[in-house]
Order: sequence, then structure tokens, then C-alpha cells
Amino acid sequence: MSATGPSPSIDAERLRAFVRDVPDFPEPGIVFKDITPLLSDADAFRTMIDAFVVAFGRGGVDAVVGIESRGFILAAPVADRLGASFVPARKAGKLPGPTRSVSYALEYGEATLELHEDAIGAGQRVLVLDDVLATGGTAAAVGELVTGLGGSVVGFGFLIELDFLDGASKLGDHERLSLLHY
Ligand code: AMP
Repeated sequence: MSATGPSPSIDAERLRAFVRDVPDFPEPGIVFKDITPLLSDADAFRTMIDAFVVAFGRGGVDAVVGIESRGFILAAPVADRLGASFVPARKAGKLPGPTRSVSYALEYGEATLELHEDAIGAGQRVLVLDDVLATGGTAAAVGELVTGLGGSVVGFGFLIELDFLDGASKLGDHERLSLLHY
């Protein structure tokens, strides 16, 4: 485990056993990090959520943004535990209200993400969570959306960081906690 910011006292390294490598998914050359074994183990799932709550709980988080779709699974329980609002960053066309959108390059393909304009208030302290930090394009794009709405990114949290893709370099000086590095 490592972080540029807070470091939880929880031993997240044992979570590694619950992450399954799926070669050549969704396309040749990609090793997909499948987190469903972790999600299906109640104790491992709670350990993951605890790690984020302990690491970011002292910072006065107003909103936790989860990135569609696996980021939702992390962000909703963390928001609940922090007494913060849960905000979904959704793929294009899914949110009904007035939205802000941003397009970016993925490790595989391209994508657009959106936030409801009224989801983040000016000056709100926002934590952004996702399952995997790969090239960093996704998380950086969501960070841009948050700051564009007047929010302040207090940190990024990931279950997994793929160090060889150097996504961290796209996240600037923001605090970052990745529970497992590959
Ligand atoms: P990136 O924008 O390259 O950092 O990609 C991050 C997003 O793509 C996250 O929402 C991940 O869920 C997904 N992703 C990218 N690479 C992988 C991978 N190797 N295994 C699982 N998910 C991935």
C-alpha cells in the first residue's frame, strides 16, 4: 500500500489474493483486474471500505464521487460511512438533468463522463473513488469536472494502481491512496 497522502492502519495487502487477472479482456493485450472475488467476500469488501474511510475520514469530505460503474461499488458505502453525499460520474447520456461532460482517452478506447451540474456545490470537499487507476485519464477527467463545478478535490482513492501506466502523473499534487500496486 502506498499513498501521497494519508495512510490507513489497515493491512490492505491481503486484498491482493481477491483480485483475479483476466488476460486479453476486453481485448487482446489487456490484463483485466477482476475485483468480483473481492466483492463477494464480505470481510475483504469491508476491509477495502475501511481503508478508504480511515484514510480520508479526517478530512471533512462533503461528497464522494464514484466513477461508473465499478467506482459506484466503492464510493456508495464510503459516502455512507463518512456521512457525505454520493455522486455518480456517469457515462454519456445516462444522467437526466443538466450535466457537465468531459471526454478523455482510456487505456483501451475513448469515453465521455458526466456529472449533474447541481451534484457538487461551490467549495465542497470531494473524494473521487474508482476500482483501477490505469492511464489516469478517467480520474483526471472526473477531477476536472469536480473543479469545474467549484468543488475541491481532497483526494483520489483506488483499490488498484497499475504503476507501469503512470496514471498518477495525471493527478497532479492531489492526495492519492491506492491500496494495491501492480
Ligand atoms: P484509465 O483512464 O486508463 O486510468 O482507466 C481507468 C478506468 O478503466 C477505470 O474505470 C477502470 O475500471 C478501467 N480499467 C482500465 N484498465 C483496467 C484494467 N486493466 N482492469 C480493470 N479495469 C481497468
